[in-house]
Amino acid sequence: MKLQQRWPLHPVSHQGEALSSWLFRFAHCYHMDLSDLLAYDLDYHQSIDLDLNPPADLLDKISSRSGIDLNQLHDMSFAGCTPWLFDNLDPDSSDFDSYFQQISILLPIRIRLKRSNHNVPFWHAWLPKQKIYRACPKCLAENEKHALLLMWQLPLLLSCPQHNCWLEPYLGTLGQFIQWEAEDSIPRLASKTITLMDHRTWQARTIGQVELPRRRIHAGIWFRLLRTLIEELNAPISYYPSQTRDIRRIWETCNHPFRAGKRIWRTYESFDLQAQLQMLEAAATAMHLIETKALEAHGAQAELFLPEPEQHVDNGWSYTLPEENTSLWPRAIAALEEGVKRAKYDPEAAQCLLNLVLFGRKDPKSINEVRSLLLKFQIPIEFLSHFSESPPFAYLTINDELSD
Ligand SMILES: [Zn+2]
Repeated sequence: MKLQQRWPLHPVSHQGEALSSWLFRFAHCYHMDLSDLLAYDLDYHQSIDLDLNPPADLLDKISSRSGIDLNQLHDMSFAGCTPWLFDNLDPDSSDFDSYFQQISILLPIRIRLKRSNHNVPFWHAWLPKQKIYRACPKCLAENEKHALLLMWQLPLLLSCPQHNCWLEPYLGTLGQFIQWEAEDSIPRLASKTITLMDHRTWQARTIGQVELPRRRIHAGIWFRLLRTLIEELNAPISYYPSQTRDIRRIWETCNHPFRAGKRIWRTYESFDLQAQLQMLEAAATAMHLIETKALEAHGAQAELFLPEPEQHVDNGWSYTLPEENTSLWPRAIAALEEGVKRAKYDPEAAQCLLNLVLFGRKDPKSINEVRSLLLKFQIPIEFLSHFSESPPFAYLTINDELSD
């Protein structure tokens, strides 16, 4: 076969499938090994981790042979997950501190454990030191071709967001499923605490943003937030003596040993899979405890897991802080309607409304015009007879929201 020719048959890739899995299935169509496909059909003879950062020239060849868009092929490897999930995949530019520097959940950022790049060389968030072979039993049962998803290779998900069951270890090689390690005990349903966290992670991966109780956040923030939470659960106890009880409580609630039984600090990515999964479960538990207000977290971003506070103002009107990227005008109009309604029986509210509509004008002509306007809304004239320069509270609150 010549390289410029299209492959007559190729399997359709599944959403989120790893490049190695898809190429393995492709090679299988032609009764070839994956290594033979790379060497004899794609003329690529070097040993390579197809799912990490495949070379551009190899992707070009695969694209021209399959007709699949280069961007789609790029997304089938971890290189396609930068810069949201990973800052980058350059082996010489890992930056441990920068991944965590802006977020804190459980512990105040001032007591954050600092590690220079010298202490943590060749580190990339979420990329495990050892290959992970896990998959969803229900996904594989539904898909007899055994397409393996890229995200299953990372210690990032505990469960399948589609089936809510645990990802289970299997025997295999890159791109190839052979058999389950423990077929008798699967599938196992994951708890709601775990599936909630995994659904959020899947949102980040698939739609680029995550809905949290307080507001919607960008995928890049979510991945750093989750990794920061794990780092806080992995921190040596000497760094947070005043919060030790809270952190211990999280570990006790999820029935795992404190710090997954690890006494010496190492990066999460260098731990064995069992410890990584226990830390992920502790992170899900911590989120649950914060969201249910069973635990008071001291990090600056912990409030993202709490509902918006309802704020009561002096004149009895209430409003909630707006979500990011949400138009504020419907809220402003609702506040005005509420103000008009209240001004019909509350003189102070009527004064606030008068000042709001005057918008800083103080001349008699403007005051009379606005009074005439408000009278049409059946606000008693005696409530509008006195002009006060006191700040219109309703106006200030709405304006503050707009300026946020
Ligand atoms: Zn599944």
